[in-house]
Amino acid sequence: MYKISLITGDGIGPELSESVVSVLDTIHDKLDVKFDIQKLLAGDIALKQYGKALPDQTLDAIKKSDVCMKAPVGESAADVIVVLRRMLDLYANIRPAKSYPGMNALKDGIDMVIVRENTEDLYTGQEFEVPGAAVAFRIISEKASEKIAKYAFETAKLRNGKKRVTCVHKSNVMRKTDGLFSRVCTEVSRSYPDVSFDQMYVDACAMNLIRRPETFDVIVTTNLFGDILSDESSEVVGGLGMAPAANIGDNFALFEPVHGAAFDIAGKGIANPSSFILSAKMMLEWLGKKHNDSKCFDVAKKLESAVYGVVNKGIKTQDIGGTKTTSEFTKEIISLF
Ligand code: ATP
Repeated sequence: MYKISLITGDGIGPELSESVVSVLDTIHDKLDVKFDIQKLLAGDIALKQYGKALPDQTLDAIKKSDVCMKAPVGESAADVIVVLRRMLDLYANIRPAKSYPGMNALKDGIDMVIVRENTEDLYTGQEFEVPGAAVAFRIISEKASEKIAKYAFETAKLRNGKKRVTCVHKSNVMRKTDGLFSRVCTEVSRSYPDVSFDQMYVDACAMNLIRRPETFDVIVTTNLFGDILSDESSEVVGGLGMAPAANIGDNFALFEPVHGAAFDIAGKGIANPSSFILSAKMMLEWLGKKHNDSKCFDVAKKLESAVYGVVNKGIKTQDIGGTKTTSEFTKEIISLF
């Protein structure tokens, strides 16, 4: 029995959570992988109810669970996810992008993963005001850069891809910070002779993700660039509504959609739950690896086939060109178990 802490979130978060819970409940009932799901509050709703975006009881429950799933949270996102990533040392943010049949990806054959450093850079929001200006700290450390570079090379080595790591930065302008990141990645690359290594400035990478996305394998980059490029790579393969992400540490992991709370469509019952369901698929793979449980890998595969099987039949939510509601789409997935 795997204990899952589930932050239900804001905006479309509760709708996505309902969908993921019904999928996991179906797996629990019909297959040999069992879950104990505890729903938790964090984000704008928790701020309103408890005066704190990340209440102590939520944090305690997460720490007692085997793994966390987090639906998107709203305006207070920085006080939830940025804090959780640092507190739980979830140093690797993994964002895959792959072209699947039925998805109208920009090109066929796209199969990449963005490995984003998850604990430092401008994304920590360390800012202050001085007369007439505002200042932000951008700290890039050797330790965090080395950890994420190793994670990227291990990923490239193990996955069935082109065995290539592309280090993305802007070291021609940020010579100290991105210079350090580039140097550390280059040093780490020497320990992986079977994985090829190249480097790209972030602006060129943004262009090449449109021009020749099929040539990428593993991209390793700093926190803010990874945030931006992964929204782009999601769109390149069909949309944010299909984009899952994993926040991984040495002992714990948290899974969430790439996108935010999407307040413009919240409460309408039209959100695409695939981003969160595919995050559950990544969770199953992580549990399988951590607990040496091959059943988790089997279920993860089944879940991925179910989502893309439904999409490939033309059964889609509005964001990807269909007419199905969140619950209709979820029922179609569940019917395949
Ligand atoms: P954040 O900065 O927190 O990532 P954002 O302002 O960039 O948030 P998102 O919430 O990520 O915005 O979403 C951008 C747009 O993509 C939304 O306005 C919404 O229309 C669409 N979108 C995002 N997720 C989904 C989804 N699961 N299903 C359908 N549409 C979505």
